[in-house]
Amino acid sequence: MDVSHLLDQLNDAQRQAVAAPLAPALVLAGAGSGKTRVLVHRIAWLIQVEGVSPMGILAVTFTTKAAAEMRGRIQTLLGIPGASMWIGTFHGLAHRLLRRHWREAQLPQTFQILDSEDQTRLLRKVLKAMDLDETRWVPREIQWFINAQKDEGLRSKHLKDEGDATRRQLIRIYQAYEEACQRAGVVDFAELLLRAYEIWRDNAELLAHYQARFRHVLVDEFQDTNTIQYKWFTLLAGRTGLPFAVGDDDQSIYRWRGAKAENLNQFRRDFPAATLYKLEQNYRSTGTILKAANALIANNAGRLGKTLWTAGEEGERIKLYAAFNERDEADFVVNRIREWTDQGGARREVAILYRSNAQSRVFEEAFLNARLPYRVYGGLRFFERAEIKDALAYLRLISSRADDTSFERIVNLPTRGIGAKSVDALRDSARAAGTSLWAAALASMAAGSSAQRASQALGAFLALIDRLDQEINELELHERVDHVIQMSGLIEHYKKEKGDRGEGRIENLLELVSAARGFTPDTEDEHIAAMSPLDAFLAHAVLESGEGQADEWDDCVQMMTLHSAKGLEFPVVFLVGLEDGLFPHQRSVADLAGLEEERRLCYVGATRAMRRLYLTYAEQRRMYGIDSFGQPSRFLSELPVELIEEVRPRIQVSRPTFVARKPALETPVPGMRMGSRVRHGKFGDGVVLNFEGNGPHARVQVNFEGPGTKWLMLSYANLDLI
Ligand code: ATP
Ligand code: MG
Repeated sequence: MDVSHLLDQLNDAQRQAVAAPLAPALVLAGAGSGKTRVLVHRIAWLIQVEGVSPMGILAVTFTTKAAAEMRGRIQTLLGIPGASMWIGTFHGLAHRLLRRHWREAQLPQTFQILDSEDQTRLLRKVLKAMDLDETRWVPREIQWFINAQKDEGLRSKHLKDEGDATRRQLIRIYQAYEEACQRAGVVDFAELLLRAYEIWRDNAELLAHYQARFRHVLVDEFQDTNTIQYKWFTLLAGRTGLPFAVGDDDQSIYRWRGAKAENLNQFRRDFPAATLYKLEQNYRSTGTILKAANALIANNAGRLGKTLWTAGEEGERIKLYAAFNERDEADFVVNRIREWTDQGGARREVAILYRSNAQSRVFEEAFLNARLPYRVYGGLRFFERAEIKDALAYLRLISSRADDTSFERIVNLPTRGIGAKSVDALRDSARAAGTSLWAAALASMAAGSSAQRASQALGAFLALIDRLDQEINELELHERVDHVIQMSGLIEHYKKEKGDRGEGRIENLLELVSAARGFTPDTEDEHIAAMSPLDAFLAHAVLESGEGQADEWDDCVQMMTLHSAKGLEFPVVFLVGLEDGLFPHQRSVADLAGLEEERRLCYVGATRAMRRLYLTYAEQRRMYGIDSFGQPSRFLSELPVELIEEVRPRIQVSRPTFVARKPALETPVPGMRMGSRVRHGKFGDGVVLNFEGNGPHARVQVNFEGPGTKWLMLSYANLDLI
């Protein structure tokens, strides 16, 4: 049998791991050292040399896209169809298992999967049936609680109230929710994993079957497994399985979602016979990029410790660009991409990586203007995001009461007790009378035809829209947007959605204010010029979202958050928005563990680059609707200066005119900015983490040495700069 081609394209250390004896193995190695490549070759080796059936292999990847790639590569290596193999994400494989064993899982054969929104909706119903007030028992918070328990492998019956009444109630809700799911025959995402684990745990025969079938369990990105995934995996591996895990503790970036890099160590305890393989040669990046990444991550404590080197060329220095502001930053990126494509490079070889989703907007705008095709990888484009559509629906309805689509979207968002039945009734009477929903609602109020509670809620909604309309009448466009997202309750609504997700939505909403502020209607077109600024802005939003994603296979620039860039590589990478508060994210700078995770994220970002790495930050940034003057990210100061080349801004004809003027300072307190040290009469000394809102409503977030992080109203706080 010719196996030489399998080992040909590997170095010694990689070969050792690929051709390892049939025993548990752990590959611990840095970015770009060929971990994923080793995993793929190991699968091919098992099939071709060890004679393992493709059906006897289970491999877990981090995304479905990575799974498809892996199948393709095995197919190329071996010439066998990869389709029959169990290669997928944890969720995907768990799903596959439950579809086969729906009986054992006590699910109907046609069980449905709830996405996050569906889950909230169901939870709402449960709360209602329990007669619990949603303002006290916030659905999104409870959802967070339930999913976190499931991720830890805990059912309601496992939880103890510890004498705490709130906790007791949460457990009761969790139980009622479990029952409701069971009755409806639905499972949420976290449930997929938990139930797939339970059917093995509680079913010795079934487990034995799968243990015998999948003796080879391979997992990529092992550092980001959570508790239930780890349990599922160890259960399957059992005492006789031959697990093969690859990972990099320096790239663990999902701690906030329950991932535990400690699982790398736990693996060595649970499989004491496991051989440890280390790969040290990096094949992806130039020497310069690698040195910078190594220097950066060296600032983290408690690493397992790895060295990475490359035999490749030193390459060019890393380009650092200090932009005047966020638009200048985007223009810089556009121009550099042009340079790349002019020299024959493809657009798809370029990636823009950012910390927060909301940062995509400014780049999207610049790319649209420059007619540069782009794709937001693993996410929606700005104007397609749900929360943006919510806010736009308010603005639309304010602008035109006859806009039924908008009416339906927001009539009960945030929840105000207008149920589906009431909306159905409105729809019927609107249809019968040939009027808009708004008109039907007015008529129903006048006739007193609905139940008192529903009617009150509806009346409040109509009054809200009318009031918002009046209140924003005299305001500038961006102030209108700001006022509406604040006073409609949308911000409050999304604040209840805990974690990164809710925060991302709020960032997007606030970014809409920036979008409005930077919006200039196309006065060339007489029809647009005749529209009110609000209507012109709304039309612009529809058009932008209507452009649709460029097709995956089109040659377009790749945009994505740092989190979704894991495992990928690109010849040219732009790491943008490198300002303290933005990256590292202000939420994470307050504690060391959070900061170290941000640093790992930065390490992941930098190590995506193969040939050319650009780092950019803006001295002034209009973000989330306010102007701020950021400090360059502390991560920049952790890079060796000799590896960096500062790009001096050249005078460009296309430079936005407002840059040429001295920009007016708009920080709420002169001289105060993110990172400023301040003193408060009661709370003592602290560091400014963030600002929110404008004028008299402006708030500041300070991390005080004693009491911790607090939001304060700037107008009352009496903060002194120190
Ligand atoms: P990450 O930590 O980012 O997931 P990784 O360790 O999984 O990275 P791979 O993606 O497998 O690394 O490999 C990085 C790049 O190096 C890929 O382009 C891969 O094809 C190439 N590569 C890996 N090993 C070799 C080798 N022995 N010879 C040539 N190229 C290699
Ligand atoms: Mg990889």
